[in-house]
Amino acid sequence: MKAMGPIPAGFAANADGVLAIGGRSAFELLESEGTPLFVYDRAGVERQVARFRRAFGEVGLHYAVKANPYPPLLQHMAGLVDGFDLASAGELGILDEAGLVGDDLPLSFAGPGKNDSDLAEAVLRGVCVHVESEGELDRLLGIASVMERRARIGVRVNPPFGLKGSGMKMGGLASQFGIDHERVAAAVRRIIAAGAEWRGLHVYAGSQSLSADALIESQRETVALAGQIAAEVGASPPEVNLGGGFGIPYFAGDAPVDVDAVGATLAMTLRSLPPLLGDTRFVIELGRWLVGECGVYLTRVIDRKVSRGKTFLVVDGGLHHMLAASGNFGQLLRRNYPVAVANRFGAEPEEEVTVVGCLCTPLDLLADEVMLPRAEVGDVIAIFCAGAYGLTASPQAFLSQGAAREVLV
Ligand SMILES: *Cc1c(COP(=O)(O)O)cnc(C)c1O
Repeated sequence: MKAMGPIPAGFAANADGVLAIGGRSAFELLESEGTPLFVYDRAGVERQVARFRRAFGEVGLHYAVKANPYPPLLQHMAGLVDGFDLASAGELGILDEAGLVGDDLPLSFAGPGKNDSDLAEAVLRGVCVHVESEGELDRLLGIASVMERRARIGVRVNPPFGLKGSGMKMGGLASQFGIDHERVAAAVRRIIAAGAEWRGLHVYAGSQSLSADALIESQRETVALAGQIAAEVGASPPEVNLGGGFGIPYFAGDAPVDVDAVGATLAMTLRSLPPLLGDTRFVIELGRWLVGECGVYLTRVIDRKVSRGKTFLVVDGGLHHMLAASGNFGQLLRRNYPVAVANRFGAEPEEEVTVVGCLCTPLDLLADEVMLPRAEVGDVIAIFCAGAYGLTASPQAFLSQGAAREVLV
């Protein structure tokens, strides 16, 4: 038997013993929406936002769209957060189609490899571009000048530190992300001299950290670095984006981030700012922490087989929808996501099973040797922590299997 991660709080069985999501039976959701199905619980997202507000007070909250760009979820999110952070022009297009590009909600656009048309689109729509290199800054200033528009520009900083213990380390190294911190002041001076609107600084030091201490340390270092750069430039950044990187528990032994501790320490840091940061607005950008635990991937059991003493449940979904649960999305060691038999939710585990997807590859392993209540053909398997980096982070075209549905409840 192998362990699995903890099922996120807020999920319970209804009177029939079926997992309820947003008050609706998982079984009925599959019947009405089709299978396999991603279900996103709006109340779960609201709880996370409320938790953030309690912990961080006046600090702004942006949603990192790449975690989950499902349009109804974005529409819901628009009423809850203070801005959207984009990582591609495609995400800008999705927001536009959802009617969310306007003056109400600030948009910023980070990411390496923005082409000229991406930059022109951002300038046209008033999106703040977080430049990742001096070359990109040159192109942006040139494009804005030809368009006779004033670009809004933030500088993404490649900091001299990283977020310790984070899944993807993105700081303290040579990097395609951001301008090396010692060269940022010069870049800011260029922005100001060109007459563009300098919106501030952006530091993103890592992702999926469960350590409050590491987050506290990285935020403290970020504020200090912003103070240093501001002093070098001799101007106040209107905004400092402190990054994010708050993780969620996926695996056995993982515990949630103590966001209250992070917020309390940040509040202290922000009470003793250098004068040049006195009027600066601080922002935290989160993807996974806001939406990851609110999503459940539901998939139906197609076959049940025993091979050399091992029981397999073969489901109609797979890694083409939920790559991360198979262990192939950035994990070093494959470990089990939290899973359950949705129509026997909360029942006692009875047998050891291995849940595999329908793709013709041994990589398509969704839960390995876990203890579950007995499941038959037609029953529904729920994979939790599927709200972030689920469907759009999966190779949907691989093996030409069917598409997954999505629904916000
Ligand atoms: C991916 C990314 C995020 C979101 O990361 P999460 O781990 O989902 O919170 C935020 N900011 C930037 C710049 C990113 O690249």
